[in-house]
Amino acid sequence: MAFEFDFENRISSPEEIPSDAAEGDNPLRPKALNEYIGQEKVKENLSVFIESAKGRKETLDHVLLYGPPGLGKTTLAGIIANELGVNLRITSGPAIEKPGDLAALLTNLSYGDVLFIDEIHRLNYTTEEILYPSMEDYAIDIITGKGQMASSYHITLPHFTLVGATTRAGQLSAPLRDRFGVILRLELYTPEELAQIVSRSAKILDIEIAPDGALEIASRSRGTPRIANRLLRRVRDFAHVFSNNVITCETARIALDRLEIDELGLDANDRRMLEAIIKFYKGGPVGLETLAAVIGEETVTIEDVYEPYLMQIGFLTRTPRGRCITMEGCRHLGYDFPGVVSSSPTLFDLK
Ligand code: ADP
Repeated sequence: MAFEFDFENRISSPEEIPSDAAEGDNPLRPKALNEYIGQEKVKENLSVFIESAKGRKETLDHVLLYGPPGLGKTTLAGIIANELGVNLRITSGPAIEKPGDLAALLTNLSYGDVLFIDEIHRLNYTTEEILYPSMEDYAIDIITGKGQMASSYHITLPHFTLVGATTRAGQLSAPLRDRFGVILRLELYTPEELAQIVSRSAKILDIEIAPDGALEIASRSRGTPRIANRLLRRVRDFAHVFSNNVITCETARIALDRLEIDELGLDANDRRMLEAIIKFYKGGPVGLETLAAVIGEETVTIEDVYEPYLMQIGFLTRTPRGRCITMEGCRHLGYDFPGVVSSSPTLFDLK
């Protein structure tokens, strides 16, 4: 059986897709800590560290943010820089190919600047080695030339704050992880928090939305602000055509049903993945690699993009022998547990 997955343009993907950039400078990104909705523990801790660094007139300790994509790590890095009143430089692990690339970035920083490295777990080993002394001693040693022509330069750097973001803290090497003074984990958002984000975004984009419309979009957004903002724009198109530009609960429901995003935020791809576990592996366990091969997807994408939410809502479990669908997951898809089609399928009978 062949699956047709369109992961690249998946509307409920938490990863950035080209249409998200249509926001241009992204007016939806909160600029200050008090505009940043949810993640209360993270905000409380960060505000203490920021205040204290400002009071001591020192740079903020290096910060590691981790959690699934689309939860607001880049946004937080910008907020940290804003709150400190310093510049933000943005790069990512895969973009830094050679140690020289990182050295160029570091030597161009000013005192107190925030350097944001997204996907920091993807830095290569030789680049990571330059990062250690720069984080610890604010200095790097660069060797140019080879053999007898080689010469070494010791460059002192201004004190700066590194903000690293990763979807998988476990993949960071221990020496790198240990050099972060502050490690913060971002959690999936509750529907109520996401409803606040949707209402805030609607205001900025000048979209009229009823509170229950915002909640309807929020509860289908997989706990992820990036998805909530994307669905808001799609639902706006429907509201434009069907309900006089006002997003009501009814319009949101119709629009999201048409986009094949169900009441819990699962899309056709989630359902096909879960169905593959039911139909081909009797509900599991099935190894991650095998599952990835069956649905034609990278294992990391399954781990970072699909699983966090499916596990959070209790549809999927990880066992030492592989992935298993739960009874709730089966019921949601209209299957008995495990793998037998129910005589009276009740697709969306879960609360
Ligand atoms: P990440 O770096 O974790 O992938 P981003 O920081 O790029 O995620 O966030 C994705 C989008 O979600 C941002 O454009 C922003 O508009 C929105 N967003 C994220 N977190 C929040 C929040 N706490 N409050 C309001 N909007 C948020």
